[in-house]
Amino acid sequence: MVKVSFFLITLAGLFFQTACNQHPAGEDDRQPEPETAKTAVAGKPDPPKPENTRMEFDLSYVMGQFDPAAHPDFVQVDLEFANREGMYLRKDTYEAFKKMAAAAQADGVKLKIISATRNFNQQKQIWEAKWTGARTLEGGESAPTAYPKARDRAMAILRYSSMPGSSRHHWGTDVDLNNLNNVFFDKGEGKTTYDWLKENAAAFGFAQPYTAGRPFGYNEERWHWSYLPVATQLTKMAQDSLADQMIKGFKGAETAAEIQIVERYVLGINPECLP
Ligand SMILES: [Zn+2]
Repeated sequence: MVKVSFFLITLAGLFFQTACNQHPAGEDDRQPEPETAKTAVAGKPDPPKPENTRMEFDLSYVMGQFDPAAHPDFVQVDLEFANREGMYLRKDTYEAFKKMAAAAQADGVKLKIISATRNFNQQKQIWEAKWTGARTLEGGESAPTAYPKARDRAMAILRYSSMPGSSRHHWGTDVDLNNLNNVFFDKGEGKTTYDWLKENAAAFGFAQPYTAGRPFGYNEERWHWSYLPVATQLTKMAQDSLADQMIKGFKGAETAAEIQIVERYVLGINPECLP
């Protein structure tokens, strides 16, 4: 029985590997090396329920080098749960989210997805718009004017935005809910929502990776929630195989190594979300 289960898990892994490889995207200089791209992810063993099944992802998946609209593991989020059309999540994550949203609704709390999967190219648009000043930072400042030095500018953008290739939003496991301001969750409806999530999200597999009081990484984000049964496997793969030198293909990427993007940002998360 153990051998059969292992075989099934291996088959599932092969399927995921194949599925991911069918959708390479992006430019050549952003593709990881073939030998590292095939690195397996150690996951949890039996029972082989979707959330406990060992999956295999390649690094191009971890780095968002695919089109979620064309990926077999993804599904479009219904408008019932989103503030606009055209957002995608992994199917496993979406199923878990719908259960959580129904439970929240029963308690009078409305969970609305305002951002879901963003691939490398979408993240690159956001990053470079902030880098060039086409889009202002959260305080209204223009990054190139306020921060002429590359490292300072990158650090300022990194308060709330990831470098392309290093975002949890690439994975289809992470959502932004209801409002992109922490103060919204301080009182009233926002506080009720945040209190509900802190109390109940874990029962559905979700956790807040960017909590207050961490030594490194992005600022606190009370709106960002992650489906850990899958995201932790992807975090583990990033921990084992993603290097700062692979984070490239956009303006300001040369700062990734000195800032230690993988160690301080990808892994600089709530310890409960670490592998
Ligand atoms: Zn987010």
